[in-house]
Amino acid sequence: MLLAHRIRLDPAPVQRDYFARAAGTARRVWNWALAEWQRQMVAGQRPDAMALKKQFNAIKYAHPDWLNADGQPWLRSIHRDAHSQPFANLAKAWGRYFAALREHRPAHRPVFKKKGRCRDIFYVANDKLRLVGKCVVLPKVGPVPLRESLRWPGKIMGASVSREADHWFLALQVEVPEQVALLHRSGDGVTGVDLGLSTAATLSSGEKIDAPRPLKAALRRLRIRNRRQSRKVKAAKVASGISGRIPKGTRLPVSANRTKGARTLARLHARIACVRKDFIHKLTTRLCRENQSVVIEDLNVSGMLANARLARAIADVGFYEFRRQLQYKATRYGTTLVLADRWYPSSKLCSRCGIRHGGLMLGERTWTCDHCGAQHDRDVNAAINLQRLATGAFAAQSALPVASLAATPGTAADIGSAGGGKVTPVRHEHGQQDGSGQEQNDAHF
Ligand SMILES: [Zn+2]
Repeated sequence: MLLAHRIRLDPAPVQRDYFARAAGTARRVWNWALAEWQRQMVAGQRPDAMALKKQFNAIKYAHPDWLNADGQPWLRSIHRDAHSQPFANLAKAWGRYFAALREHRPAHRPVFKKKGRCRDIFYVANDKLRLVGKCVVLPKVGPVPLRESLRWPGKIMGASVSREADHWFLALQVEVPEQVALLHRSGDGVTGVDLGLSTAATLSSGEKIDAPRPLKAALRRLRIRNRRQSRKVKAAKVASGISGRIPKGTRLPVSANRTKGARTLARLHARIACVRKDFIHKLTTRLCRENQSVVIEDLNVSGMLANARLARAIADVGFYEFRRQLQYKATRYGTTLVLADRWYPSSKLCSRCGIRHGGLMLGERTWTCDHCGAQHDRDVNAAINLQRLATGAFAAQSALPVASLAATPGTAADIGSAGGGKVTPVRHEHGQQDGSGQEQNDAHF
């Protein structure tokens, strides 16, 4: 099983400097390749990554764009992996784009990367790095201390070095043997999980789990720092005599205080991401460890993010990340993850009698069933409906002895016919990163 371990690095100043240059090279090569790809497409050719790489190799030590002030090819000081990987990533990005087009999903073309706007990341092939004690030996920079040792035995398949705020991280993809990767479950429950805004998660057992409080405090701090930073940008605009939109290609004068402000802001962003991730990790581990089956709603997240008022709250909870982690942890614990169809009206059905309740507003936290008079907490009711969906799906596949359950009113069989909910068992995918930088728009950042 392919698992990734991300370890913080402690690079020396020279090494940090190299990392920044290598990431910058990867970005610049990506931009060159994308521009060339687009040019060839417009010219009616069929660009491909291999040919493009050859084309680049022919000019990279000769073309004036790739020579420094002394006329020397600066690319020689950066390891080859950093400037060959972008071609493969670009091919993958175009592949995803065309696949999405074919399947009529929302498709996004690969975009140019901009310094400070994209992730600083570069790739290192597995035969170019060695782990020696608590160090990683990387090409061109030698041993870099690691903050922790690699968690798993197994063959290293690839690595990338990336920056988050002030810190550099090494992400190692490891092919971990099954007997190590698979984990023991502590329970055999079946749980429905309703992800929400006021409560981060509600379980079908009635338990409500709130998002961590440090997040709220940090978000307040974030607003303050954002405001301070935007004042500095405004001052820089005034100083250079620009009003309104900043014209493309202009560089505002950079003050030391603005650089410092940007750094503190980035650190806070990183901290918020960490708090959020930690919370999601603990919750998803618990869900997978204690249950043989977990049901979540396949929320139309991008549709909901389009709603500006909802967007903030949804992004805070980190739905994408929640689902991604559930997916790979379910594989490790042997838990079945069930995705309820996004049109399954989990919050509108009465979990006692199965009658659909019309006209439920988003603000209504509790409601009473007109048919059987049951009092429902909106989130708990939805979670129970999701859980029933799983037991129903299991009965159909005869994986679990729940046939008797389906015969009683108000259970999965009933709801299935009343609501028409469709169940899609989730494909197990590895959370493999490809370093293409296309993930920078993800909601949880
Ligand atoms: Zn009812």
